[in-house]
Amino acid sequence: MDLPQPPALTAEAQHFFTAAAAGRLELQACDACATRWFYPRPACIACGSEDYHWQAVSGQGVVASFSIVHRAPSAEFRHKVPYVVAMIDLSEGPRMMANIIGDDALDVAIDDAVHVVFEKRGERFAMPQFERDRRSR
Ligand SMILES: [Zn+2]
Repeated sequence: MDLPQPPALTAEAQHFFTAAAAGRLELQACDACATRWFYPRPACIACGSEDYHWQAVSGQGVVASFSIVHRAPSAEFRHKVPYVVAMIDLSEGPRMMANIIGDDALDVAIDDAVHVVFEKRGERFAMPQFERDRRSR
């Protein structure tokens, strides 16, 4: 059973997922105050400005928190358990929720260094996920 695809997208989310499908993690950055944010929204979360640009970021981060899911929330995820849901503090600032994937995902620890990877979902979407860096293993 295939994993679910994102629901109907806002214009900002459409940009985010188009970049992800091309292998880029992009964040919005405010032209007025330089704040970067995630998730995609139409205005700056710090000052409310609607003037922003998209910025490709490194995809590097550290694990701020995580949980290991043993009971699938829906049938599509039954073949995935156990799996890791984590809060990732990106090097560029924003905190992002994603899965930690890879052979050693279940060994994850807080403060592990991680990097983004793009998990294909169907033909048009890719979901930014994270893998542990070698130095964290
Ligand atoms: Zn701002």
